[in-house]
Formats: sequence, C-alpha cells, structure tokens
Amino acid sequence: MNSLSARQCTLVSPLEFAGIGVHSGLPVTMSIEPAVAGEGIKIMRLLDNGKTTGPSEVHYSKILSTTLCTTLDLGDSKSVATIEHVVSALSGLGVDNALIVINGAECPILDGSAMPFAKAIVQAGLKVLPQKRKYIKILRSVTVRNNDAFAALEPYNGRALDLEIDFDSPVIGRQRMIFDWTPKKYFDEVALARTFGFVEEAKILRQGGHALGSSMENSIAVEKDRVMNPEGLRFDDEFVRHKLLDAVGDLALGGLPIYGMFRSFKGGHGLNALVLSSLFANDDNYEIVNADELPLVFDALNDLPDGLRVESYLRSVG
Ligand SMILES: [Zn+2]
Repeated sequence: MNSLSARQCTLVSPLEFAGIGVHSGLPVTMSIEPAVAGEGIKIMRLLDNGKTTGPSEVHYSKILSTTLCTTLDLGDSKSVATIEHVVSALSGLGVDNALIVINGAECPILDGSAMPFAKAIVQAGLKVLPQKRKYIKILRSVTVRNNDAFAALEPYNGRALDLEIDFDSPVIGRQRMIFDWTPKKYFDEVALARTFGFVEEAKILRQGGHALGSSMENSIAVEKDRVMNPEGLRFDDEFVRHKLLDAVGDLALGGLPIYGMFRSFKGGHGLNALVLSSLFANDDNYEIVNADELPLVFDALNDLPDGLRVESYLRSVG
C-alpha cells in the first residue's frame, strides 16, 4: 500500500465560497480551512455579534433534522443546514480533516451539485499527513427500514454504494447506481449531479418557508413528465447520481471513512442517519482499523481526479 491510501489528508490551502441557502434564500459565505490529523471534518459559525460557535464535529450524533436536508446542532441554539453537499465533496475526494467556517445558518447551494466544492478542492490540492488513516470496517450487516424503503451497511472488501430510487414520475422512474468509490470516479460521475424538486411541491414548500432560494440555477425542476431547465439534464440518470452524492455526504457523518458496502432503496437523509446510529449502537457491528490492517489492499485513493495535486509531508509522493 502506498502512502496516500494509508495516510490522512487535508487541504493544501483554504477554500472560499459565496452563495445563497436553498431553503433560507439568504446570502452566505463559507470557507474551508486545512486541519491537523485526527480532527476530522468540523464546522463552526461566525455569528452576527462577532462571536463564533465552538468547532463542532460533523457527526451523526449532532443531527438536528433530516427533513429536506441534513441540519446539525452547533450548541447554544445555533444550527447549520444543508451540509451534505460540501461534506460529500470532502469525503468523496478523500479529505479527512478540514474546518468549515460559515457566517450563516445554511451552506451555500451554489449550482445544486457538489462540483463547485470538488473543483475548488482539486485546485487547492491535497496534503498528505504523517498519521495513518483509520476506517470503520463493517463486521455485521445492519439494515433500517421505513415501509418498502431501506438503508443498509454490509461487510465488503472495499468502499461501495448500491443505491436505487423509485419515483412516481415518468422523468425519473426507477434508477439504480452501483458505485465502487475512487476520488476520480466521484469527481467524474457523482459530483456534477444536481439536487432536484417537483414544481408542485416547491409551491407548498415555499408557503412553509422552505426552498426560498431554489431556482433552476441550483435545482433540476421536474414538472409532471418533463424537466423544466432549458439546459436539460447533465446525465440521463442525474437523479440517482445526486442521491448517491447525498449518501456519500451523509455517511461521512460516521466520523471516519466506511470500509464496506452501503445499500439503499428509496432512501434519503433520514434513513442514512438511522443506519449510522444503528451501526454504532452495537460494538460487534464494526471495528476501527488502520488502513494497513485491511485484508484487501485497494488502490482506490490513488485513482485521483485529473489535475489534483498531492503534496506529501515527505514531499516524495504525488
Ligand atoms: Zn442533495
């Protein structure tokens, strides 16, 4: 195993974003700073009074709500919504440690996909840290259900997702994606997929004070049997790809990358959070292992997006 698979990563330099929240409609700026090994992904808010919340772990135990998006509790009655796309980009490209700093209560939606975050990460580059990367190795299958929908984590030699959706819409219908994760495949096949919504539902959501920032600039708008966006879809199956993007972000709330198989049918943020809490409810379900203890050495982390620079702590790889 070469050093990139085995070692933790952070960003070479900070990233900056400005946009609006898809639900609040409010302007927000967000930066992502490099962090030392063992910190994981953390998030903190800059408040209007000049103070900040303490850095809070991006962790399933901090989830406040999974309605429409994943919202984290930051303590002191402060929260941050719609974290899943930025966290997906960090996790999807193998960034283990970073601090997200945001001046509002919702992450910017940008174009509705994870690509603006992913592109910025690729431009900044990854810095390999000396400390070993740890994984959550799935030892026993865990399944959570809601009627015919389910989410499951299963033992598997690698990191994969098998996700299927079934919408009563001729534009979407039944779509399935099986994804053996590598950073390059995440960048090329997943990061670009945008969030989506139904025009009739958007009216109701707006009356309830949600989706106030949503537009065809940041969402695929589906009306009955057609996509309203003049540019059309980025992939024929963009919908299932976006659900997979969300799942990558939601699963990162386990705190460490998962070594195993995630399966989902008609799932979403709620079931994704529930399968993590069910996994961690019993110590027999998993173990924390160093990368070099894994039975099957895999080169996934070395399959990098084109142009991604990797800076070693030794300055001898990449
Ligand atoms: Zn999403």
